[in-house]
Amino acid sequence: MIELGGWLLWRLRPAAIAYVLSVQAVALVLVTLVVATSRDAQPQDLLNFVMLAATAGTVIVTTSVSINVQRQVRRNPWTLHIAYLATGILVLPPNLLVLLLLGPTLHGVLDGRPDLHRWLFTTAATTIATLSARFAIGWGEPVWGAAQFVLAGAVLLLVRAFLVATCIRLRNPGAPRQHVLGEPIDVLLGIVAASLGGLLAVAMSREPTSALLAGPPMVLLDLAGQLPQWRRSAQHDAKTGLANLAHWERLAHAELTRARTRSRPVSLLLLDLDHFKRVNDELGHLAGDTVLAAVAMMLRGNLRRADVVGRFGGEEFVVLLPDTDADVACTVADRIRCSTAALSVPARDTGGELRELNDLTVSIGVATTTRYGYELTDLLFAADAALLAAKSAGRNAVTLA
Ligand code: GH3
Ligand code: MG
Ligand code: MG
Repeated sequence: MIELGGWLLWRLRPAAIAYVLSVQAVALVLVTLVVATSRDAQPQDLLNFVMLAATAGTVIVTTSVSINVQRQVRRNPWTLHIAYLATGILVLPPNLLVLLLLGPTLHGVLDGRPDLHRWLFTTAATTIATLSARFAIGWGEPVWGAAQFVLAGAVLLLVRAFLVATCIRLRNPGAPRQHVLGEPIDVLLGIVAASLGGLLAVAMSREPTSALLAGPPMVLLDLAGQLPQWRRSAQHDAKTGLANLAHWERLAHAELTRARTRSRPVSLLLLDLDHFKRVNDELGHLAGDTVLAAVAMMLRGNLRRADVVGRFGGEEFVVLLPDTDADVACTVADRIRCSTAALSVPARDTGGELRELNDLTVSIGVATTTRYGYELTDLLFAADAALLAAKSAGRNAVTLA
């Protein structure tokens, strides 16, 4: 399940506007056809609907109230809808199934979602996916069996993912893969939700009140959808996207332990931007933040995937280079020093004027395990002393401890 990112319909590209409106029109036509052509519901169908809607409604209200009370923002609100919709696809006639689609609307209202168009689009995409899944297993009297359960879940998830991914691509052709396809945890949550929905359908076919038992797992699913957000904010620095100090230290400890057992050299770079206070004083703290983000991006671009980069504090960064001796570490540090000097960062000053910042420099202290051993603290102390030496030597310099 994929988030679309905040957008306003009229600000989208024309192709994206046309696509969004078409998906919504198709969903509306399908719902109208379903309502006009379905047979009357049987008492058993009505009982199933009441039990399922009551359970889903209670979960939606409970999770929304708890999110509002805790002043949080729900990251992925769709997992729980997938669960009861998957059940509805298997146990309800199409006209009652359509009524279940009011669940996301209730959710949108309770959560006070600001971007109505995005919500409408995702609801429309979910409607088309839900009705396609029902169609795939038999419109009037669905066939039941393991193959049909898998088919219903797969059509529900894939059609929905396809419709949403197309929208993201049209809205932003350069969007990274992860934004278009969702994170692995979201894919897994979708599968878990559809499976829970299938299990619930089997239970409800024997005893409709068993729907109530699905409430707590649905709440848990909703909470699980927030995990990546919590993990990211606990481990990463919001301004630069780099590992925060605590997370960096954990990664660095693990890397040093690995290197010690294999007797491999590891180097550490401690970086401090020169005269950074001037940037803040002359252009303002927001421009300073833009520079920090640009430096972080430059660092990532200059390093290997295995190198561990973190924000040490203020305008200081720290990098652990596995399998790297002192000579190579100094070469890497000098490359970073040159890239910093070559940086040109567009940033708005305190008056809102766009300015180009291009006289940044950095001082870097380098320490390596071949001289200081595999204790992180020893390496940090050594690199810090080397950094001070680089500052004393006139800045814009690399010094090896
Ligand atoms: P030096 O060359 O000696 O390192 O000079 P400097 O001005 O960089 O050093 P100093 O430590 O005196 O100042 C660091 C400045 O970094 C002060 C602080 O306002 C700024 N700073 C620290 N964290 C942030 C941040 O998150 N955002 C912004 N914009 N500025 C920050
Ligand atoms: Mg500093
Ligand atoms: Mg500084």
